[in-house]
This record gives sequence, C-alpha cells and structure tokens, in this order.
Amino acid sequence: MSQLRFGAIRESQGKPRIQIEEKGRRSELFGVNVFNKNKMLQYLTKDALESVENAVFAGTKIDRKIADQVAEAMKGWAISMGATHYTHWFQPLTGSTAEKHDAFFDLLPDGRALEKFGGGQLVQQEPDASSFPSGGLRNTFEARGYTAWDPTSPAFVYGTTLCIPTIFVSYTGEALDNKAPLLRALNVIDEAATSVARYFDKNVSKVHATLGWEQEYFLIDKALADSRPDIMLTGRTLVGHPAAKGQQLDDHYFGVIPARVLSYMSDLEKECTKLGIPVKTRHNEVAPNQFELAPVFEEANLAVDHNLLLMDVMDKVAERHSLKVLFHEKPFEGINGSGKHNNWSLATDTGVNLLSPGTTPMKNLQFLTFFVNTIKAVDTYEELLRSSIASASNDHRLGANEAPPAIMSIFIGDQLSSVLDELEGVSHGKLSPEEKTELKLNVVGKIPEILLDNTDRNRTSPFAFTGNKFEMRGVGSKTNCAKPMTVLNTIVAKQLIDFKKEVDVLIEKKNLKKDEAVFNVLREYIKTSKRIRFDGDGYSADWEKEAKKRKLSNNRSTPEALQVLDTKESLALFKALNVMNQVEVTARKKVELETYIMNIQIEGRVFFELVYNYIVPAAIAYQNSIIQNVKGLKEIYGNAHKEMTTGQMSLLEELSNHLNALKQKTDAMVTARKTANAITDIDKKAVAYCDKVKPFFDEIRFHSDRIERLVDNHVWPLAKYRELLFIR
Ligand code: ADP
Ligand code: MG
Repeated sequence: MSQLRFGAIRESQGKPRIQIEEKGRRSELFGVNVFNKNKMLQYLTKDALESVENAVFAGTKIDRKIADQVAEAMKGWAISMGATHYTHWFQPLTGSTAEKHDAFFDLLPDGRALEKFGGGQLVQQEPDASSFPSGGLRNTFEARGYTAWDPTSPAFVYGTTLCIPTIFVSYTGEALDNKAPLLRALNVIDEAATSVARYFDKNVSKVHATLGWEQEYFLIDKALADSRPDIMLTGRTLVGHPAAKGQQLDDHYFGVIPARVLSYMSDLEKECTKLGIPVKTRHNEVAPNQFELAPVFEEANLAVDHNLLLMDVMDKVAERHSLKVLFHEKPFEGINGSGKHNNWSLATDTGVNLLSPGTTPMKNLQFLTFFVNTIKAVDTYEELLRSSIASASNDHRLGANEAPPAIMSIFIGDQLSSVLDELEGVSHGKLSPEEKTELKLNVVGKIPEILLDNTDRNRTSPFAFTGNKFEMRGVGSKTNCAKPMTVLNTIVAKQLIDFKKEVDVLIEKKNLKKDEAVFNVLREYIKTSKRIRFDGDGYSADWEKEAKKRKLSNNRSTPEALQVLDTKESLALFKALNVMNQVEVTARKKVELETYIMNIQIEGRVFFELVYNYIVPAAIAYQNSIIQNVKGLKEIYGNAHKEMTTGQMSLLEELSNHLNALKQKTDAMVTARKTANAITDIDKKAVAYCDKVKPFFDEIRFHSDRIERLVDNHVWPLAKYRELLFIR
C-alpha cells in the first residue's frame, strides 16, 4: 500500500480548525502596519512630510537631510511595532519579490549596542544580489546592483521586519527589476494623459493609472500537496486521472465557502488589511477548490506591490492552516485554470475617472477621447501586449476555452459600437452648428445612459470594456502585474502623445475649434483601429480564422509571443518613452526565454522521476499481484484456470502496453531534452523545448493516467484528483 499517499490522506483529515476572531472593524485595522500618511503626520516634521508628499506627487528628489529624518521616524515607528530588522523589498526578474534583512542593531566603537537606521540605509543599498537573473545586464566583473527607495509605495512592517519598497538597478542605471520600468511607464502615462485631460479641464495636474486585480487560486491540503513531487516542484499536477466529478455540476462557483477555507480567508484578509491591502471580495471560483480574492482598486504601482505582497501573505497564512496555495495557471487537467484579471483605468488628481462618462457633453467627449485612444493603442501594439503575459504556465490557459485566446481583441458591446459607428460619419474639418448639436444631443450626450445598462459581459474577450474601465483578462494568476501594466501604460501613453500632436496641428494650422479637432482625429482612429474590435465568441474556431484575415497576431506559445519584444518598432517605442533602452528590453527577453526553458526542463525532469520512481513501480506491483493470482488459480484449477483468468490476462496486457509506451515516451523525451540542451542560440533552444520536448508531456501523461485508472487504488502512490480537489 502506498504509505505516502495514505499517510497524507490520514493527515489531511481531522485537522483542528483555526478559529479566527473578528473583533473590531476592518476599517480600524486598515493599514496599522503601514507607514502611511497618518503615521507620517505623527512621526515626521512638517518639512519632511512635505518633501515626501512632493516626491510622491511630483517625483521630486528627497534630499539627504530629510531622508535622515524620515529614516529616524520610520525606525522609531517600526521598532514600536516590534520590528527588529529592515529590508529593501524589490522585484527581481524572477517574477516574485526579494528581501535581505539587516538588523537595526549595531555596535558603537566603544562596544555599546544601539538601534541604527539612517537616510543612507533608507535611500539606497547594495545587496550582494549577483545571482538574480539579469539577461546579461550584469557581467560578473561588474555585478553590482543597487536598490533605491520608491517613496510612492509606503514602507510597512511585515512580521518583525520593516520592508521598504525599492527599485533594483545595475551600477550603470539599467533596470534589473519589474518595478523600475513600471514607474517609468506610469510617469509617461501621467504626462501624456495629463496634457490630453487638460483639453477638457485646466485644473488637472496629474493622472494616475489605476489597477484592480482579481487573484484566482487553488487551495489544497498541505499534506496532500507535499505528497506529490510534481506539485512540490512545478506547482501543477503533471499526471492525474480526472476525478469522476469535476466542475460539470457548476456547484462550486459562488457556492458556500467551505468552513476551513473560510477561516483561511478571514485570517488572510485580516493580515492583508493590516498591511494596507484593501481586500474586499472573496468567493468560490468555477473549479473545485478554486477561489478568488479581489481588492478595491488602487494607483497601479501600489496595486502591483500589494498583489505581490498578497501572494506572499497567502503562502504564509496557508501554512498556519495546513493548506497550500497553488498560483499556477493550470494546476489540474480537465478543470479551469487560474487567471488574474487586470482592471485598468486612468484617474485625475481632480477625482475624475477618465474612462467614465460625465454629466456634460464635454466630459463625455473626454471619455470618448481616452476610450478611443486606448482602443487605438491596443490595436497598434496588440502583439506587444500579448507578449507581456507570456509564460510557460500561462500557455496552458490562453486559448484553452476557459480563458481568452492568445489573440488580442477588444470587446465594447453593441451600444458603444454604434456610438463609434456614428462618429465615423463626422464631417471632415469644421462642423456645422447642426452637426455639433446633433453630436452633443444624440451621440455623445447619450453615452451615460447607454453605460448605465451596458451590463453586457463577454467573458471570452481578452480586453473588455466594462462600463468605467478596461479589463485585461489574459493575465496569468502567477504573473507579476507590473509586466502587463508597463506595456499597457506605455502604449496608451504613446498613443495619447500622438493624439495630442495631431489635435494641436488641426487647431493651430487648420483653425479648428478644440472639439472639432478632437472629433476629426477620433474619427480617423475609429476607422483605422476597427480590426481589434470583436464582440463575438473569442473561444470559437471562426474567430481564429477571422482574426487571421484581420492580420491580428495569434502567438500561442511563449517563444513565439516574445519575438516581438526586440523588433525595431518595440525597441523604438520603449526608448522614445524612456521606459526601457535596448539593453534592458533584450535582457528581459532573454530572461523570459531562459525562465521558459528552465520551467519546461524542470517539468521534464519531474516527469522522469514520476515515471521511473512512482508510476512504473506501481504498475509492476499491481501486475505482480495479478500474476500471483493467476498462478494460484492455475495451481488449484489446472487447465481450467485459462477461462477463469481472461480478465486478469487482458488487464496484464493492457498494463504492459501502457507501461512500455510510457517508458518509451519518457526516454524519447529525455533524448529530446538533451538535443535541446545542446543548442546555444536561446531563441532556438526555447523553440526546441516548446516543439520537441513539451509534446511528449501529453503522451506520457496519457499512458500514466491510463495506468492510474487500471491499477489497484491501494498501490497508486500519488494523491488522486478527487483527494486534491474535494478534501477541504
Ligand atoms: P467583476 O469584473 O468581477 O464583475 P467589478 O466590475 O465589480 O467585478 O470589479 C472588478 C474589479 O475592478 C475590482 O477589483 C475593482 O477594484 C476593479 N475596478 C473597479 N473600478 C476600477 C477602476 N476605475 N480602475 C481600476 N480598477 C477598477
Ligand atoms: Mg472581473
């Protein structure tokens, strides 16, 4: 009998529930572990507070004396919160966060001990971080990397450590992380959107991108998770016969949250609330043991930090509840995988959502301006946007009829489509007073009413307008949102800059009024960006054909999707907007490809282990027991046993066939891996892993799952789908 599996099942049952007390209000708990405005008011001098606020609002530099004051205040507060250490908290290109703790504790020359933390330590550090992926950005002889304080994201105490959000750059200033390019992109969208918003309201002096992510995840028993090498090392099940019951009854989605999960969620939410993550929504997702958590949206940089912090907190809290969180996009075959929708919009410092129509025709024209420019940007750079969500794990999900396809398109619904259709007919040049009135009353003026009942939701669209924001749905559950947010904000910024130029030319050279110029430019954008708009079924085969006709990209695998990154156009875009230079972009592409290769390589190795050390031995053990049985029957019944053992014999044969095929495919996969490993060109190597190694995985899995179906439950060593998905 399989000790590990049955031991894990026993362990998973009858665990004491952790009771989570809900004393006091969540609003009182919010941000208690964050060095936010309230704490700053309390701990900082007026000058220091002003300086930090200017840095946040206008990106001004904080001088060293002020930094010393801020550090002193942060230290005092953090120690009062029980912190003993501090760390720069950053986002290397691994996709998650990194930290290196230093104690506040220090010694004076005379041997006395004290707590020390100055402006120097707050502002900049040089972690010995030469082992992070850099895509060749850092040669070993110049391996230094610096972390530098990002005052726009507040420091927080996590456990007993003061965490200071930072960027991570090389000695020569190149970004080694995901945050630095994001901050640059947010900076250009601020400039570009502010200057366009000022056509409509001169009081606007800042625009920030907003992000509300929705985190999907699986939660399974820790003992069961730990009993499977594939889950432990790859985050997903490489083999496993589907359980008799999956999600076909639709009885999990929005169902009653299981008690053990609910106490996990409450515990998690309390931790998040203390850390200033404004968590709001929790529910069961479509697949069994799949759940979702969503916060109130925030400024994009902060939202990205909060999502990364959340994933870490989720892991830690799960430990306490003997649970394991699976962030992988496709942990289980045959049921839905997990994503992380990115809801995105633009907000002004005057409190206006630029993707929300207003109360006056002018405000609605402002809405249309940002709406159409976003559509145009996605149309121009659809392939680049696709590349920002590419990963080995997300490849399983995109286009698998449970998440949007790898083809980018935009859903806006019938009513907004007809508004755009009407705008296509706007006259060239000056508009007559009648046309203006008509536009005002019957086209632009109608938008708010339209949106009120525009509840239409097309779940198959990768980029959908949902009333007052766009929702990017292809983002993977594991993905660092900084990546799609960097690209999205960069391309929209570029588009807004172009728009502004065109409108200004019409105003200055053609003597058009501002609204006339805006209508004229939007009309052309609507015409030229039509191919990206698609309201039909994104999962259908027809759409794939249609998209091909429209010359939209359909990059189904990561190696394909990443190729656009270092094209002339992409490099020029990132450079022109100061988001990334050529070296930074090519380094990122290299890191993404390397990560892809390594992920497939690890899966290949785990497959080998599973087959040789688990599946083959289980199949042989079961075969042996059949052989024993047949031999015994022969001993008793002599020749008559033949008729009695036809079932046993056919089982033996069936098992042998699958066993042989399993071993043969596994060995062939290993050979393919070796061939791929010998390739030095990284692009070609990634393609080899994708096209020559990965296809074996499905074949190996097929035979393994057949064997699982045939053998005695008691000899099967790997926790089964029903146990992973239905033990709660
Ligand atoms: P759903 O898409 O699941 O139906 P909602 O439309 O209520 O749910 O919102 C989903 C997410 O959109 C939430 O996380 C919310 O914070 C976010 N969101 C709402 N408004 C904005 C906005 N203006 N900018 C960015 N995100 C937003
Ligand atoms: Mg949503």
